Amino acid sequence: MEFQDKVALITGGARGIGRAIAENLARKSAHIVLMDISESVHDTARELEAFGVKTLGITGSVTEETDVKRLFREIESVFGKLDICINNAGININNLTMKTSLKDFQQVLNVNLNGTFLVSRAAMLMMLKKRYGRIINISSIVGIRGNAGQAGYSSAKAGIIGLTKTMAVEVAKKNITVNTVAPGYIATEMTDALDTEVKARYKKYIPMQEFGTLDDVAESVAFLASDKAKYITGQTLVVDGGLLLI
Ligand code: NDP
Repeated sequence: MEFQDKVALITGGARGIGRAIAENLARKSAHIVLMDISESVHDTARELEAFGVKTLGITGSVTEETDVKRLFREIESVFGKLDICINNAGININNLTMKTSLKDFQQVLNVNLNGTFLVSRAAMLMMLKKRYGRIINISSIVGIRGNAGQAGYSSAKAGIIGLTKTMAVEVAKKNITVNTVAPGYIATEMTDALDTEVKARYKKYIPMQEFGTLDDVAESVAFLASDKAKYITGQTLVVDGGLLLI
């Protein structure tokens, strides 16, 4: 019942890490708003009702100001407030920098970074009215250390860390915290599809020798969203099994 009466928005929440974050918060009694570009967001929202909480699924893109405005109008009319905002929607287009088109570079920045900005801006305005809020932005360890073939993605994920720190300072006095979670390799449908030999090679580089689980990310997010983390703001919580240490 940790999040009873709290309302949480998760972008990109139809599947993957976003869905796991939403499910974990719903299990802990938060009402859930999911926004996703995929129509399947409605099915996911319905499935989460099984936790006995109210849910709302909204189709739209975090990159479109009109979609974000519509999202917050809906949140206002259904719940009248927003306590927790998780900016999770993200895409990646892999290519070496030399071969990356400006269009692809900008698209990756647009979803990951501009989307986080647009949704956070609207969330902060709503949170200010109640003088309470938790914003958690999903970055990646590649935003800290870079990664070959991920120019746009690593730039966007590094940008999220800078944006987080700036927003954190701006709203610190208003009882709103803003933090980043930076996952390493997490076991998802994408990693499941890799063949065993490739998986073993990746795992060898991780000090804990395992991929992280969806729960590892979801519980880190839940901690930062909770009142246990009320004095933590502007920080990056790295969830990577020690990968950044080597
Ligand atoms: P998925 O691709 O599985 O899920 C992302 C969700 O976001 C999808 O439902 C996708 O819709 C949706 N989405 C895409 N673009 C938009 C948009 N413009 N507006 C709203 N929703 C959108 O990703 P993961 O679960 O793997 O990753 C989630 C987050 O975690 C991302 O920010 C990612 O960068 C980050 N991350 C992931 C890691 C991993 O190992 N998986 C490691 C480190 C960070 P659709 O299905 O239609 O594309």
